[in-house]
Amino acid sequence: MILVLVVNASAVIVTAATAFLVDIDRGDLARFALLAGCAWAAIELTRHIERIRSYQPAATVAYVDSTTVWSFAAIIILPPALASGMVAVTYILSWARVKTRRAIPYRWTYSAATVLLGTHVAGLVLAAGMSNYPGVPDPTSMTGFKDLGVVVLAATVRWVFNTGLVMTAIALANPTARSKDLFNNFSEQFLEAGALGLGLAVAVIVTANPFALPGILIAIIALHRSLLVSQYRQASRVDAKTGLATAGRWHEFAEGMLKVAQQRNAPLGLLIIDLDRFKAVNDTYGHPFGDKVLRTVADELRAEVRELDACGRWGGEEFTILLPDIGTREALYRVAERIRLRIQSVAVDAPDNDGTGTPVYLSVSIGGTLYSAKDHGTLDDLLLAADTALYKAKNSGRNTVRLSANQLAAPTEPTETDPPATNLPHADSA
Ligand code: GH3
Ligand code: MG
Ligand code: MG
Repeated sequence: MILVLVVNASAVIVTAATAFLVDIDRGDLARFALLAGCAWAAIELTRHIERIRSYQPAATVAYVDSTTVWSFAAIIILPPALASGMVAVTYILSWARVKTRRAIPYRWTYSAATVLLGTHVAGLVLAAGMSNYPGVPDPTSMTGFKDLGVVVLAATVRWVFNTGLVMTAIALANPTARSKDLFNNFSEQFLEAGALGLGLAVAVIVTANPFALPGILIAIIALHRSLLVSQYRQASRVDAKTGLATAGRWHEFAEGMLKVAQQRNAPLGLLIIDLDRFKAVNDTYGHPFGDKVLRTVADELRAEVRELDACGRWGGEEFTILLPDIGTREALYRVAERIRLRIQSVAVDAPDNDGTGTPVYLSVSIGGTLYSAKDHGTLDDLLLAADTALYKAKNSGRNTVRLSANQLAAPTEPTETDPPATNLPHADSA
């Protein structure tokens, strides 16, 4: 919150301070009008795509849009006051016309302020380094090369500055977000780099021959479309609620892992994990809370297994984990027990009427099976075996691990050592 206030205040101060550093002439105003017109056209022509894009599962990914093109072009060729005006114009237009669910006022102001600050930092780099600031590198003299270098530097500084501020805010607001989540969308970061590059092209075109601007507009729309495609691909692979692989993606991946295990004569473990009495959780605390529980369980599962173990969301409240190089049933059982105990120790806070949280405890039943080199089963055989074991775990009172007895001599059925089954989840309001 403090960061947001500081950034917003700095943006206003820097904008006011730089406003009168460079005089504005009629040519500047004409170029400003041209850029603003393009920004408006681009926003109008891509707004339905932006709306769809805004329904992206990962709320942690820093959001990028094409308005960078116009604001970066503006800082290169226009005096700082007009460059600030361009940031304001693009932000107000996209606020008014796109109205995505991301358009939460404080986020929007923060984002506008970071872009404003980033623009001015880039402007300072340009003013300090370029021979003819504001303006584009001169192609007829050697100083043009140096000026181009300064523009690239300004673009880099702007990117680092904006991304840094946005990521910091996101990281502060989501203490549990991992850096992997923050940086996971390379195509979006690529778009930002592409937008800065296009910004330079627009700056040159506006100065030299504005008739080439429609070409840039078409390029921007095409870029947006391609992003949408990559988003759809991502959505079919990652489950939005839990961040785990979707069943389809997990199955595809597991088939590949099984093939590798068969080729290498290596063992492979498979676990199916089902939340106990989850319907009661939904019925008692509501579906949104149920979703929160699913997310928590998914995070715990991921945290409990190795990086190479593949976790997936198999169905509603069922998860699958494929564990390569698990050599014995005992080892597989130990992993499953660890998972069971970990979930048992987790409390998820359910919202209460008086504002305090009620801790809700959970438990899972786990069915597992081991693929060993002697077997010739398919993935579906393994899933069936694990599912049958899961059924037995449920039947013997839940909060239990059962492994299928199909492989290896003298399997150790761990029935006697099982902890007593409980009727979790239960609310513990103490
Ligand atoms: P058991 O111990 O036998 O597994 O009991 P259960 O209640 O967990 O089992 P059942 O399969 O009957 O219920 C699963 C419930 O999971 C039913 C459904 O409402 C809930 N569910 C499935 N998908 C979702 C989801 O995405 N979000 C939420 N909140 N609930 C879901
Ligand atoms: Mg269940
Ligand atoms: Mg179930």
